[in-house]
Amino acid sequence: MSKSTDRYSGPAASTYSYMNEFIVHCPKCDAMATVSTNQSFDTSNDKLTCTNCHFVEMRDELIRYNAEILRNCDNCGKQINITIPDNKQETTELQLPCPHCHIIRIYKPKNSKYFVGYKSIGICDPVFNLPLWLQADVKGETLWAYNFSHLREIRNYVSAKLRERQTSAFTTMVEKLPNFIKIGKNRVAVLKVIDKLLLK
Ligand SMILES: [Zn+2]
Ligand SMILES: [Zn+2]
Repeated sequence: MSKSTDRYSGPAASTYSYMNEFIVHCPKCDAMATVSTNQSFDTSNDKLTCTNCHFVEMRDELIRYNAEILRNCDNCGKQINITIPDNKQETTELQLPCPHCHIIRIYKPKNSKYFVGYKSIGICDPVFNLPLWLQADVKGETLWAYNFSHLREIRNYVSAKLRERQTSAFTTMVEKLPNFIKIGKNRVAVLKVIDKLLLK
């Protein structure tokens, strides 16, 4: 008979349920920083906090606007097509000379909003696009987790010899894990990497 510790009895949790917090590399000092999000369309509370260098950044501080004017000049009739990029706020009015006849007019530009995430490579958080802190190589594949409770749950699953279907309602986080994490012959290597990450 198997011992109870051999059986995986974790929560029937989706991957999404771990996506309220991401441990990342701080963009300023490279130490461990935390991204918190309420996972809604309202991103105004999504925040990056580094306890090492005390850098704090709100997600919405990375919103930018392009102010665009596309129309014909009322003096010479030629087309004016001007974009002023990278504004931190919406531009209500722009005073500009026509590029053709140079007459100066005040225009109301169209503002198009965009988000400038960090230009990181590798596996990153979905809010700021910063590299995840908890990632490591296992036999050429990358094992990663969003946060420590996510990683501990992966560990519980990998260390259990008996894994049962947790729910039929949806595919749980552990069931979605890539094969190299699940297969028995990688168990020792995977656990070793996870234990190292847990101490990172
Ligand atoms: Zn920092
Ligand atoms: Zn003109």
